[in-house]
Order: sequence, then C-alpha cells, then structure tokens
Amino acid sequence: MSHQDPIAIVGGGIAGLSLALALHQRGIPCEVFEAVPDVKEIGVGITLLPHAMRELTDLGLQPALEAVAIENLESVFFNRYGQFIYSEPRGRHAGYAVPELGIHRGKLHRILYEAVCERLGAEHVHTQHRCSGFDQDEGGVTLHFQRIGEGEPAPSVRARLVVACDGVNSAIRRQLFPNDAVCFAGINTWRGVTVHKPILTGKSYIRIGSIDTGKMVIYPIVDNVDGQGNQLINWVAETRRPDAKMNDWNRPGNLDDFLPTFADWRYDWLDVPELIRGAQHIFEYPMVDKDALPSWTHGRVTLMGDAAHPMYPRGSNGSAQALLDARTLADLLAQTPDELQALQRYEAIRLPVTAQVVQTNRTQPPDAIIMKADELSGGRPFNHIDDLISQEQLRAISDRYKQIAGFALDKRR
Ligand SMILES: Cc1cc2nc3c(=O)[nH]c(=O)nc-3n(C[C@H](O)[C@H](O)[C@H](O)COP(=O)(O)OP(=O)(O)OC[C@H]3O[C@@H](n4cnc5c(N)ncnc54)[C@H](O)[C@@H]3O)c2cc1C
Repeated sequence: MSHQDPIAIVGGGIAGLSLALALHQRGIPCEVFEAVPDVKEIGVGITLLPHAMRELTDLGLQPALEAVAIENLESVFFNRYGQFIYSEPRGRHAGYAVPELGIHRGKLHRILYEAVCERLGAEHVHTQHRCSGFDQDEGGVTLHFQRIGEGEPAPSVRARLVVACDGVNSAIRRQLFPNDAVCFAGINTWRGVTVHKPILTGKSYIRIGSIDTGKMVIYPIVDNVDGQGNQLINWVAETRRPDAKMNDWNRPGNLDDFLPTFADWRYDWLDVPELIRGAQHIFEYPMVDKDALPSWTHGRVTLMGDAAHPMYPRGSNGSAQALLDARTLADLLAQTPDELQALQRYEAIRLPVTAQVVQTNRTQPPDAIIMKADELSGGRPFNHIDDLISQEQLRAISDRYKQIAGFALDKRR
C-alpha cells in the first residue's frame, strides 16, 4: 500500500464534510469528491437535535450555527382538530448542554463547507466529481468519476481508503449491492417555507395529526425575515395512501395533490391551509428509507450517512446519525493502527445502532404520541387529553425514541 494515497470521501454533504472536519481535527488528511459543480444553499428546514449539536459543537461550529438558526423552546403535539396533546421543553430548555436548532438546510451545509475550505483548504474539495464506481485491489482503491454535463470521464483517483458519503442514491452502495432499492410504503411529503407571523411561542416545533389522516410538521427557521417581525416557517405535509405513486425528489409540488387533506385545518391558533398557500416554493419528496444492510465495510471501502442507513425523516435524525458516524470513524482511525480494522470496528459499532433507528422511525417515531391519542379518542375530538392519557405516559413514548436515537438527556454533556 502506498501511504501517499489519500483517504477519499465521496460526497460533500453533511456526512462527507463533517467527516473531513473530524479527520482534520485528528491530524488525518483527506480529499473530498463531490458530484455537483458548486456548493449551493439548497433545501428547506432541518432540525439539529442535541446529539447532532454536540458533534457540531465539538467541530467548533456552534456559534456559527446559532447565529443563523432558531433555538427550539418546546416540542408540541396536536391532533388534526388542533387540540393539544403533549408538549415538552427541548434542548437547553430541557437541561441539555447544547441547544436544539431549527435551521435552513442550505445554511448548515454552507457553514460545513466554509469550515472545510478554511481548515483543510478549498483545493481538497473536488467538485464536479461524480463517482461512477470503483475497483479495489490489495494495495488500494481506484475511484472512477464523471463530470456532470460532460461526456468525458474525469481522471480516476487512487485512494488507500474510501468512505462513501454519496447519499440515499449512493453509487458505491449500488456497486456493492446491485439489488439495492428504496422502500416506499405509500407516504408522500410536500415541503415549503412561508413568511408568517410567529406561531405559538415562535420557538415551537409543532406536529399536528398523523399520517393516516394527514400530518403537518411546522417549525420556524429564520427570525424577523422581513424586518416586520415575521418568521420563515418551515412546514412539511405528509399523507399515507396505500395506492400512492411515489413522489419525485425535490420537484416543485402541486397544491391539488395535498391541500384538500388539510382544507378544514383552521384553528384559533393557526390556519393551516393559509400557511400552505402562503409558501414561496413547494417541493415534493417521497418518504423512503432502505432495509438495513448486512455490512458496510468491504475491504478498504465503507459507507456512511444516508449511503449507509437512509431513514424516514420523521425523527430529525438523519443528519445526527451521519455526524455520529463521522466522529466514530475519525476516532477509530486516529486510535487504531490498522486502518482496515478501524473500518470494521466502525461498522460493528454503528450498523446495529442505526438499523434500530431506521426501524423505529418506521414503527414508533415521535409522532406515535399523536397516534396513541387518536387511538384512545377513536380519531374524534376530545374534551381534555388528561381524560385519555397522562402527560407522563406520553413523555415515556418521547423518551423511548430519544434513548434509541442516542439523545436521552445526559447532564454530563
Ligand atoms: C425531506 C427530508 C427532511 C429531512 N429532515 C431532517 C431533519 O430535520 N433533521 C435531520 O437530522 N435530518 C433530516 N433529514 C435527513 C438528512 O438530510 C440526511 O440524513 C443527511 O443529509 C444525510 O447526509 P449525507 O451526507 O449522508 O447525504 P446528503 O446530505 O444527501 O449528501 C450526499 C452528497 O453526495 C453527493 N453525491 C451524490 N452522489 C454522488 C456521487 N456519485 N459522487 C459524488 N458525490 C455524490 C451529493 O451531491 C451530496 O452533496 C431529512 C431528509 C429529507 C430527505
């Protein structure tokens, strides 16, 4: 093996960039290969839970993130009639050492990208390098690339280790597992951002309804966006229909496809159809994940982030699990003399944990709280939630999810 060959990270998303930063922090050089020509601020909102923030804080990014995000005060659940079910304080308000943030996904990405350029040097991020596959031999890995929009392939690159961070449609995963496919169970989503007056506390992460009757997730991501006290509100509409055709990825959404489900969701504290209609842009996404793999590490190649364990975006955990993957692998590479063994140990630690999060997001996501209330009320309006179930019992559902996902309250950090 040539020690001149670098560690190659394929994909410059949340996993790839945070891995580059974590390796750099431990004195391990690497090269990042990203398909797109420019890193742009795309996407809508994302929630950074305390375990994600702990990793980002260790990477020195907390001040930059807090400066452009909204710190959540509470997580609050309602049924489709707008009736209160459950609330709990979040982040620092719940005793964590770090905040829970709602942030524009593009801003998070830009902060990671700028940190990589500043610390590693922009010359170590190779944009316009779409990986098309790899060959592996005893001495290392040869990565093959194409340039977007150009017929000519880009020159191949030799690496001693490859970490595939190329997202849910990972080319490397597909080469390792040719029958790889996303799992779609009839849940489609539409996401938008709307300039709107603050809702509830103005720092509330709100879930309303459940996927069988329609569900909305609503949270602010930018304060005072227009100088008149309005916020940029991120919202997601979700529906499950057994016969549904799978939505496209990030395609402009059509109001007629989902607004009728929410047409009568008008409460004294929020007019949902008005919020939806006020959106500047609406994008459609399918809610998909993949079954857990038997292995991630194949010799000198391993998988990370959504390439390894795409999950339903229901518990705000995709980025957090990617960040935990990155730190775990960086620690192991720094501590383990045999790098191939480090890749194996990384898989042994992270694969079972993330497989359980994937499964829990399918069956017992945080909004199981609303499903429980619906079950007890027969899906009808109720007088008071305490007549059906106590706040302590509902908190137990929330705490179970935190335990599995790795962000149960630990006052030491
Ligand atoms: C609708 C939606 C909402 C979400 N909400 C949340 C949330 O609130 N909180 C949360 O924690 N998570 C959330 N997630 C999940 C989170 O966005 C992902 O888990 C996270 O982005 C995974 O990071 P990643 O780096 O693995 O993949 P990505 O961020 O997808 O990055 C992959 C990168 O690889 C590049 N790439 C792709 N193919 C190639 C190739 N062949 N060669 C080179 N480069 C390539 C892509 O251009 C991209 O830059 C959400 C996901 C979705 C879809």
